[in-house]
Order: sequence, then C-alpha cells, then structure tokens
Amino acid sequence: MLYGALEAGGTKMVCAIGNENGEILEQVKFPTETPETTMPQIFDYFKGKDIKALGIACFGPIDLRTDSPTYGSITSTPKKGWSGYNIVKAAKEALGIPVGFDTDVNGSLLGEVTWGCAKGLSDAIYLTIGTGIGGGIMTNGKLLHGMLHPEAGHLRLPRLKNDPGKSVCPYHDNCFEGLASGPSIKARWGKTADLLTDNNEVWEIEAEYIATALMDYAVILSPKKIILGGGVMHQEQLFPMIRAKFKELVNGYIVTDEMNHLDDYIVPASLNDNQGIMGAVKLAMDACE
Ligand code: ADP
Ligand code: ZN
Repeated sequence: MLYGALEAGGTKMVCAIGNENGEILEQVKFPTETPETTMPQIFDYFKGKDIKALGIACFGPIDLRTDSPTYGSITSTPKKGWSGYNIVKAAKEALGIPVGFDTDVNGSLLGEVTWGCAKGLSDAIYLTIGTGIGGGIMTNGKLLHGMLHPEAGHLRLPRLKNDPGKSVCPYHDNCFEGLASGPSIKARWGKTADLLTDNNEVWEIEAEYIATALMDYAVILSPKKIILGGGVMHQEQLFPMIRAKFKELVNGYIVTDEMNHLDDYIVPASLNDNQGIMGAVKLAMDACE
C-alpha cells in the first residue's frame, strides 16, 4: 500500500511516497512560495501515484480542531499568502483521498514513535532546535493538540546572568526560542552556530537553556523519552552537556530508571532527518482508519 507524505515547511515542501513500513520510496522538494504557485506543483506530483491517503506535517500555527469551520487551515502566519489557507481542504479537493494533518513537530515525533528511537512509547517529546524551536508532544499514546497545539518553543525561561545576548523572539523577552534558537546564537555571537563549534562558552549557555526547558517539560508532561532534532543539535557536544545540566536541575527529585540512564533518555533524532516525512506517512495511514 502506498501513502503520500508532505512535510510542509516555511522554506521548502518535501513530498514523498512511502509504504506501511515507513520506507520512503521516492522524494521531491519544492520551494515554499505562495499557495497559488506552490500547491499545484505538489498536487501534480501526487496525482497518478496510486496513493491511498496523504499525510501533511505542517508549519504553523494551524487549526487542528476537527469541529472547527477552519479545520485544516494555516492560521496566523506572517508568511505571505499562507494565512487562512486551508491546506487540508485543498488537498482533499485536488486528490480525492483521506488527508491526515498535524504540526511538523508532532509529525516528527510520530515518525520516531512509530519507527525510530521512541518506538512503542506512549509518552515522548520531540523538540526541534533550528531556525525556530518547536515541540511535538505525545501523552497516553495521543499527539497533544488542545486549545491550539503546543507552542513549546515559547516556554518562558529565566535569563542567565552570563548571557550577553537578547531575545530574538518578537513576542517575548525571555522565551526558549528567543534565547536558544539558531538565529539567537547568531545574534549573540555574531556568527552562525555551525562556525562556533570550538567556542565552549556558546555551548555552555545553549546547554543550560535547553536543560532548563527540558526540566520544565519533564515535570509537567512526564515523557519517557526526549528527542532533540534540528540544525543546532548537529552540535553533538551539546548532548552530554545538556544531560549533566538536566541532572543538576532535577537535583535528585525524580527517581526513575530513565534518570539513571540519561544517555538513553535525552537523545538525538534517529531517522536520518527523515523523521518528519516518515511521520507524515503515518499520518496518512492513520487517516485511512
Ligand atoms: P529549519 O529550522 O529552518 O527547518 P534547521 O533545523 O536546519 O532548519 O535549522 C537551521 C538553524 O540551525 C540555523 O539557525 C543554522 O544556523 C543552525 N544550524 C544548521 N546546521 C548547524 C550545525 N551543524 N551546527 C549548529 N547549528 C546549525
Ligand atoms: Zn517567544
């Protein structure tokens, strides 16, 4: 059985055909321009591919409330032409098949829970730390939506005394994305993060912000695994630093097996940057049920 998968991002649209084992059989990318120019290319790609359903893991914010008249829309994005665009409705009309829909980060988490490092777990978190910071959350086997969907990147964080930078979030002076995303590293140090590998101070501050956020997610959501993806997490030296700081912040309060094996609790994404598109395949599979 074949399924269509669309990972809709602010800069590019990844389209793929996958099967029920999460195998990606083919993949193409289109730049994200406007819905009028971009979406017809995507629908043309999927037409005639004999797919049973399409899964869309989408940049946001998006309307996930199935009882809402605007279910399936991208809502308040500043990205020109996309605000109010109903991507699910358009896909159903163009392709005439069931369409599954969720946030990009919930998609990545679903990929990891179905075929990756969190396989079989009922409670897990996937964070992307890249141009922005976003979090996908599963609790009790269900992806968390709620009022809107989690906006875990905008968690308020105490600013470190030794932090010379300022928040890059236009909404918040002290949020996780504002203080620890890729652009915030560039704003603080004057160079992109990939050129700062040898500067330990950069990663001390970064690890402390990430660990502080993870501590808050851990005590509220009680995840059984925390997966960290996105461009900034290619700095592998961050992982042991984050785990050490996380342990210090928890300060012995949480006593579980996971806390004794933090190298298996706070982990990198495991699907070679295919977690999002594989998650979209699973969204398509679930849409058929
Ligand atoms: P996006 O979030 O736009 O989907 P990425 O997850 O690749 O894309 O994140 C891009 C951000 O990650 C940029 O701010 C970039 O500077 C940073 N980045 C990309 N590669 C690396 C790297 N190897 N080390 C550190 N930072 C990186
Ligand atoms: Zn913010």
